[in-house]
Amino acid sequence: MSIVLLGPPGAGKGTQAKRIEEKYGLVQLSTGDMLRAERKSGSELGRKAQAIMDAGKLVSDDLIIEMISRRIDQLKGGKGFILDGFPRTVPQAEALDRMLAEKGLKLDAVIEMTVDEAALIDRIAGRFSCAKCGASYHDQFNRPKTDGVCDVCGATEFTRRADDRPEAVKIRLKAYREQTAPILPYYRKKGLLHPVDGMASIDEVGRQIEAILGRP
Ligand code: ADP
Ligand code: ADP
Ligand code: ZN
Repeated sequence: MSIVLLGPPGAGKGTQAKRIEEKYGLVQLSTGDMLRAERKSGSELGRKAQAIMDAGKLVSDDLIIEMISRRIDQLKGGKGFILDGFPRTVPQAEALDRMLAEKGLKLDAVIEMTVDEAALIDRIAGRFSCAKCGASYHDQFNRPKTDGVCDVCGATEFTRRADDRPEAVKIRLKAYREQTAPILPYYRKKGLLHPVDGMASIDEVGRQIEAILGRP
């Protein structure tokens, strides 16, 4: 099974992708996480993406499409994947269809997570994640069970993203409205789009997604 999680920054895509990984055995493919790893490694792609990401703008379609195509090839023979943060433009959605057809794969569902803009700003402002495994937390809404210790891997180092500052967040929300939201009708026409209420609790959103995907 291969699915797309679609929604604005802070909608809860990464949080739900981790749950789906555990329940369904799919692999999370987050283009944001991949780009952050490229930056950390100091690769050419990482250097190209750095300033664009920190400003809250989108990295060019060509770079992203090539990066994701390579990762999908590495997963051959697995149970499938969850695309998180990709596609983000109509050309990326079209390229994904072509790429999957060439590889003999197809999308099973596109899950649209809707959240009010005011709530997104609060979610992003309080977001932090485990420096070791990437598990996502929130100062108010999703604290680790023991303060300062990651629930998933036990690490004690956490990070906050440079692009989670308010000026960059405004630009990212604008990029979502202008460049990513036009993908919604593209998938609706194909009958693949399933909306979920992203304003609900993390567990409730998880249940809505499981109702769409069916039994693992
Ligand atoms: P969020 O989880 O807040 O939606 P991401 O971690 O997915 O943010 O993305 C962080 C940044 O990485 C984006 O603002 C953008 O600069 C870049 N990026 C990630 N995915 C894509 C993509 N599919 N196309 C272009 N840029 C991307
Ligand atoms: P995205 O990957 O879409 O950018 P994240 O999964 O990183 O979003 O979630 C953004 C922030 O909001 C994180 O701090 C996360 O812990 C928190 N969060 C995620 N889902 C919910 C929810 N349903 N209710 C409240 N907070 C949430
Ligand atoms: Zn961890």
